Amino acid sequence: MNLILFGPPGAGKGTQAKILQEEWGLVQLSTGDMLRAAVAAGTELGKRCKAIMDRGDYVPDDVIIGIISDRLDHADSARGVVFDGFPRTTAQVTALDTMLAERGQKIDGAIELKVDEAALVGRVEQRKLETGGARGDDTSETLRKRLEVYRTNTAPLLDFYRAQGKLSSLDGMAPIPQVASGLRHVLEGLRGH
Ligand code: AMP
Repeated sequence: MNLILFGPPGAGKGTQAKILQEEWGLVQLSTGDMLRAAVAAGTELGKRCKAIMDRGDYVPDDVIIGIISDRLDHADSARGVVFDGFPRTTAQVTALDTMLAERGQKIDGAIELKVDEAALVGRVEQRKLETGGARGDDTSETLRKRLEVYRTNTAPLLDFYRAQGKLSSLDGMAPIPQVASGLRHVLEGLRGH
C-alpha cells in the first residue's frame, strides 16, 4: 500500500508517518528528512538546497524527483511507502505517478491533515524549543512563507486525488493518538478494497 500524507508545515505528517511505519510496516519517505541529512553531511546536494530551505522555498522539482526515484529503487520500498512532504507540486505528482507505474505500483490513498494555521505557529515554536532550533527553517517568519508556498503550490494538488476518490481528510489539530486512530480507520478501509 502506498500513501501520501498532505498538510502544511507543522501539521504532524512526520509524527503520523512514523506511527504508520511502526504499525503497518510502511516505509516513511520524507524528502525534508533526506534533504536535512544532505545538508548535515555537507554534500553538494545539501549545499545547493540549504539556503532555499532556510528561506522556506521549494527545492527544484528535478532534485526532489531524483532523490525519490533513487529511493524507490531500494528493495524495502516494495513493502509500501508513506510519502511525507512529497509530492508538493504538479510536476512532482506527475513524476510520482510515472515512477510508480514503472515499478508496477500506484498511490492507494492520500490523507490530508487539516489544521488551523494560527495554531501552527505555536506548534512550530514548540518544536523549536524541543529540538533546540535544530531546523534552520523553524522560525515564525519562515513558517509564514512556508504556509504561503504550501497554499499556492501544494493545497491545489488535493483536487487531483479527490477526483480519483483517493482523498481522506482528518483533523490534524486533534491529539496525536486520535489522528493516528483516524488514520488506522482510513487504512483499514483501503485494505478492505
Ligand atoms: P519538510 O520537512 O517536509 O517541511 O521540508 C523542509 C523543506 O525541504 C521545505 O520547506 C522545502 O524547502 C524542502 N522540501 C522538502 N520536500 C520538498 C518537496 N517535495 N518539494 C520541494 N521542496 C521540498
